[in-house]
Amino acid sequence: MLPEKMNEAMNEQVAKEFYAEYLYLSMAVEFAEKSLDGFANWFFKQAEEEHEHAMKFIEFILERGGKVVVPAIPKPNFEAKEYIDYFKAALEHEKYVTNSINGLMNLAIELKDHASKSLLQWFVDEQVEEEDSVGTIVDHLELIGDSRNGIFMLDRELGKRE
Ligand code: MG
Repeated sequence: MLPEKMNEAMNEQVAKEFYAEYLYLSMAVEFAEKSLDGFANWFFKQAEEEHEHAMKFIEFILERGGKVVVPAIPKPNFEAKEYIDYFKAALEHEKYVTNSINGLMNLAIELKDHASKSLLQWFVDEQVEEEDSVGTIVDHLELIGDSRNGIFMLDRELGKRE
């Protein structure tokens, strides 16, 4: 049986993962409107991943006899003028999610909830990857600066994400 405190915390995490999905979806749409289809592709894929994260928690809660609360998702809130701003906002959001996952892990340790620890270890590792991949794109955009050529090449690169 899933401890009640963990159940509640995981439901909050489900809402955060769906919010991330919406955030990346709205970023993807803005890039698609600018015909930067590679950037759009990267954010569409990122949104799909966030959906999978939410589902992973939902399936786990159900498997352990918990109660899932399907959340209302607020409208994504971000400010971006330059291309790099989108990725900086994404990186900030991933850092926020990492903190949240670490909080869940702390709770699992406190509750001696080994099954949740095992699930959460996957998310701890996943967050390392998430921050690294977004951080690399931020670095590349800093190098590219105002180069249109560079943006065009990065767009083609990000279009390859599957
Ligand atoms: Mg996530």
